[in-house]
Amino acid sequence: MTNQLKNSKRYDVIVVGGGSSGLMAAINAAQQGVNVLVIDKNRKPGRKLLLSGGTRCNVTNRTTREDLIKHIPGNGKFLYSALNQFDQEDIVEFFESRGVELKEEDHGRMFPVTDKSQTILDALLKELEQHDVTFKLHDPVDKVLYDLDEKKVLGVKTKSGETFQAGSVILAVGGKAYPKTGTTGDGYKFAKAAGHTITQLYPTEVPLLSDDIYIKERTMQGVPLRDVNVTVWDENGKPIVEHNLDMIFTHFGYSGPAILRCSGHVNQYLERTHAPVCHLSIDLTPELSQETLKAQAENQRDKQVLTILKQWMPERMAELICTQVKIDPANPYKQMIHGQVDALMQYIKAFPITAHGSKPIEKGYVTGGGVATNEVNPKTMESKLMHGLYFCGELLDINGYTGGYNITSAFVTGTIAGRYAAWGSFG
Ligand SMILES: Cc1cc2nc3c(=O)[nH]c(=O)nc-3n(C[C@H](O)[C@H](O)[C@H](O)COP(=O)(O)OP(=O)(O)OC[C@H]3O[C@@H](n4cnc5c(N)ncnc54)[C@H](O)[C@@H]3O)c2cc1C
Repeated sequence: MTNQLKNSKRYDVIVVGGGSSGLMAAINAAQQGVNVLVIDKNRKPGRKLLLSGGTRCNVTNRTTREDLIKHIPGNGKFLYSALNQFDQEDIVEFFESRGVELKEEDHGRMFPVTDKSQTILDALLKELEQHDVTFKLHDPVDKVLYDLDEKKVLGVKTKSGETFQAGSVILAVGGKAYPKTGTTGDGYKFAKAAGHTITQLYPTEVPLLSDDIYIKERTMQGVPLRDVNVTVWDENGKPIVEHNLDMIFTHFGYSGPAILRCSGHVNQYLERTHAPVCHLSIDLTPELSQETLKAQAENQRDKQVLTILKQWMPERMAELICTQVKIDPANPYKQMIHGQVDALMQYIKAFPITAHGSKPIEKGYVTGGGVATNEVNPKTMESKLMHGLYFCGELLDINGYTGGYNITSAFVTGTIAGRYAAWGSFG
């Protein structure tokens, strides 16, 4: 192994992957005065970052520490020590102090004022240029070289056959979601070669698949539901998670923000139980209790059932509920018997749906699972198994909801990995 590296160029820190976490890692390493090489398989760095937030880049979320962690359901707590060193407010400060103005939108989501992710990427690249960071592009890393006896990292070998030595190697190659941006899951094999465990990978932030009859018959395709409460249920009828956002019926199942947020939990449930489907329910009127609904309907008892329901939901949803309850939507509300009223209210407050899976990981926004966090030092992002090996970004078993939480996690872990990798490379 050492022979392989004989004539290779030496850097203090090599960052494998020039995406959100890798660029931030390289900046933070270079700021410590060490020489840094960033290797990416693409011709240009930051491809996914450019696509992010609908090409506007939802760069972080201005919220409390607790809320931030709550919105990172995949091991958010692992980030506590890292956030003590660099948090969402530091991300805002990082960009604003470099002349990039940010603005806050709904739910604390932060975007560049330009509405262009290119602004964010340009700021990162400018900083890297100022610190003379070297880039090697369009040449994927094929192998990370380890001294397995000494348990330390030695360097990397690229597909073109070039080798580079370094005291520290940071793996920032992302997960498996959106592979056309370069994230084809290469990091898992690099981590495994160092002895790391890769937890079960699953798609998150992804639309759900369903065989519910109206999905198969495509009668509800395109119907949106605004501000509904979607709950995922476990095998004991206990709620796993609930989200109050929009959703939409599609030709294959369900999508929209509330569904995307539930998707990782649905996939984990299906994986854990091997059940054929996961049960979810939709509260179509989270703001109105059953009693309020009943009272409001009673006040309009001469009107048609459909007319009353249309006040609370789209017409096609109202018709679907009438079909499920087996009542004629054209009938006056007053003609319904007690049992029918109760069933109607039940369907409005907890309309049952099922999902048997989701679109594949490649179609998801984020990868669930990854390098087991208990094998990584949360203060430094260094491997507990291989000296000089660091992890950051989506390659780790960390995943957040949409809303700026994933780029936040990438920037936070990247910052910490970069700093400690630089300090580590001195030793
Ligand atoms: C369409 C879309 C929109 C998104 N929008 C948002 C958003 O607005 N806000 C948010 O918080 N999150 C968003 N996310 C998620 C977020 O972009 C990612 O979680 C984040 O970029 C992960 O950062 P990373 O550094 O781990 O990986 P990436 O940013 O994907 O970078 C990984 C890099 O590694 C390179 N690479 C891979 N393998 C190799 C190899 N063998 N050798 C060399 N290089 C390699 C890749 O080419 C890539 O450049 C979005 C995701 C998608 C798909």
